[in-house]
Amino acid sequence: MTHAHVAEGELSSVEAHLAEILGTIRPLPPTELSLGDVHGLVLAEDVAASGPLPPFDNSAMDGYAVRIEDVAAASEENPVTLPVVAEVAAGDTGAYALPAGTSIRIMTGAMLPHGTEAVVPVEWTDGGTARVTIRGKADYGNAVRLAGGDAKAGEVLVSAGTRLRPMHIAVIAAAGRGAVRVRPRPRVVVLSTGSELAEPGTPIVPGRIWDSNSFMIAAAAREAGCLAYRQAIVPDHPDEVRPAIEDQLVRADLMITTGGVSMGGEHDVVKAALQQLGTIRFRKVAMQPGMPQGFGTIAVAPAAAQEEPHRRRFRRDPYGTAEPAEGAGPEQVPIFTLPGNPVSAYVSFQVFARPAIGALQAYDGLGLESVQAGLTAPLRSPPGRRSFLRGVLDRSRGRVTPLTGQGSHQVATLGKANALIVVPEWVVQMAEGDAAEVLVLP
Ligand code: AMP
Ligand code: MG
Repeated sequence: MTHAHVAEGELSSVEAHLAEILGTIRPLPPTELSLGDVHGLVLAEDVAASGPLPPFDNSAMDGYAVRIEDVAAASEENPVTLPVVAEVAAGDTGAYALPAGTSIRIMTGAMLPHGTEAVVPVEWTDGGTARVTIRGKADYGNAVRLAGGDAKAGEVLVSAGTRLRPMHIAVIAAAGRGAVRVRPRPRVVVLSTGSELAEPGTPIVPGRIWDSNSFMIAAAAREAGCLAYRQAIVPDHPDEVRPAIEDQLVRADLMITTGGVSMGGEHDVVKAALQQLGTIRFRKVAMQPGMPQGFGTIAVAPAAAQEEPHRRRFRRDPYGTAEPAEGAGPEQVPIFTLPGNPVSAYVSFQVFARPAIGALQAYDGLGLESVQAGLTAPLRSPPGRRSFLRGVLDRSRGRVTPLTGQGSHQVATLGKANALIVVPEWVVQMAEGDAAEVLVLP
């Protein structure tokens, strides 16, 4: 690795920018949702077992409930025969008792008859219905599931802050809860700006390009657990950008724009339109790609909120059950203004917007997974910037190959990548075989 020493200049570090973002975002107020609707959401309460799991002693197998001494002598050569005095199926709620010297036919999951000491699996028997011949002895507790053997009453089964996956949902259901408090799915509105942009699927003339950012960012937001709305393309005109953004605020927990924030002056209309608000900071971040970044909050226009209280309520509370947000004042919607080059927009989303989406759900597990891998080829990186180079990671071999075509417009290269190779600010070149930090793309 070759290092370089450079003055920091006016660039902000990636960490400083991310810290400001995470310091600004408030988690969405929790809401109670039924179990069928919570997959992928973040739990906002500890879910404890209201009673023991399983709730009653039951059989682990299809077989015969017995007392130990009645089968103690049973073997392949000297089978024991017992009368079968009853049959208990899963779901039977009647109270049975097992008289000494008898057996009760029992199914998996059925409540154990009082006095049962073991269950003899049907495979060790002749499967008889009036009388059963048993060819093996059973130890105390054989094929018995005791009440509380899985979880004790009051035990926390799933903790607040867990992103609910199928296994968590199973536990919550098994504990009898039909609804739980979760953070609502963040609603992200994605808006791409640029007079050069056209809808994919429509013809273009030289000078125009198809909009890829808004589809990409909306998909990335969904991948991060959001509901994403993609807005139509906004042309580079100062009178169009502010109203287009403000129109969308009522349905956004987070806004993301792309384009119009570089240093090019009057054509950078997003910057021009939002700078006047004073609540959004535009800065250069010491990274490549993705140097021009904007982040801040934008208020839902008070007039709109008053005239349309139903919309205002809808904004933060799609299910009508959320608790009031802490602190008064107009609703503030966080907004990212990402650079327009597709690779820059993509990297900026993964590095900054994904953790922010986590923060909206009081969840800190949305950062990209980081691994170490050996470079299969040398690479270069500008001094003073943290590079996020597109690469192909081979996890099983612990190797990563930098792709050729690292320009921030090179979306075709992005389409081949499954990882970002992180080159620290002070490293300007790395050799084949060097160990690099690699972020695994979701
Ligand atoms: P800007 O940040 O607006 O200066 O745009 C930088 C570069 O990204 C220009 O080449 C734009 O044409 C391109 N670009 C901006 N928005 C998009 C988009 N939505 N899809 C594809 N390319 C874009
Ligand atoms: Mg532009």
